[in-house]
Amino acid sequence: EQPRIATPSETNAILKRHGFKLKKSLGQNFLTNPAILSRIVAAGDVGPDDDVIEIGPGIGALTQYLAEAAHQVLALEIDERLIPVLAETLAPYPNATVVEADVLQADLATLIRDHFDGEHTLKVVANLPYYITTPILMHLIEAHLPIASYVVMMQKEVADRLVAEPNSKDYGSLSIGVQQTMDVAVAFEVKRTSFVPAPNVDSAIIKLTTREEPRAQVSDQEAFDKLVRGSFKARRKTLWNNLQNLYGKEPEIKERLTKALDAATIKPSQRAEQLSISDFARLTEALLVEGF
Ligand code: SAM
Repeated sequence: EQPRIATPSETNAILKRHGFKLKKSLGQNFLTNPAILSRIVAAGDVGPDDDVIEIGPGIGALTQYLAEAAHQVLALEIDERLIPVLAETLAPYPNATVVEADVLQADLATLIRDHFDGEHTLKVVANLPYYITTPILMHLIEAHLPIASYVVMMQKEVADRLVAEPNSKDYGSLSIGVQQTMDVAVAFEVKRTSFVPAPNVDSAIIKLTTREEPRAQVSDQEAFDKLVRGSFKARRKTLWNNLQNLYGKEPEIKERLTKALDAATIKPSQRAEQLSISDFARLTEALLVEGF
């Protein structure tokens, strides 16, 4: 068996050998706790029938575990300085490929087609750079790629928003955007001391599993997204208030808004955080009927 990259001493030796200076601006907090890495791979249920995409391999701490468990691993790393480091640390793993890329700019559909045989279950497993966790997740989900599940580490505050249910302070457009098409669960939490350098927040591993059917069908996704975002714009204000700010305050508009709310059996005095995904879906359809 190869030595673990993720022990504190091996990580420090690799960084020193390459004269590598960590960049805070790229969210470079590397895991130095092998036990956590085993648990991440277990949470992803990664095995020989799976192909894995990793975002931000760093020096390969997690990549090593993924390569040992999966069929093929494709890792996207934005920092060109890490490419030669990864070439060295991942040399024993011919089934791991590193591509220098910004995940937010990458053409993932093409990368998937070029690197994988399409005969294995595709999973994303990553310790995400925290400064862009939400954009990365939304980018991946909205790309509608054939990804069965995501096991991703993020700061606990974002994890709380992803799993939030209605009537809680963390529930909002991010919870809804993700939960509409995914089942979301917290796998486990990770203390900041498991990283080098230690970030100033605690972290959580979240597992997202693509649902066979979305939680609520909407005929116009753009209209749904607009309604959800607009409804949470001033989250302490009523839905009525937010809807007027979103669609207009003219008497004729108010009349149609009232009709739509009635048809969807939603009270204008409610607040966005009280509405479930199916409430928002029903209201979207009613608004479309009223010409919004
Ligand atoms: N996987 C390693 C680990 O667990 O120790 C490193 C994780 S570190 C939290 C995040 C990694 O993402 C860094 O290596 C950073 O350079 C990389 N990164 C940051 N922004 C990126 C982007 N837009 N696209 C791809 N990788 C990115």
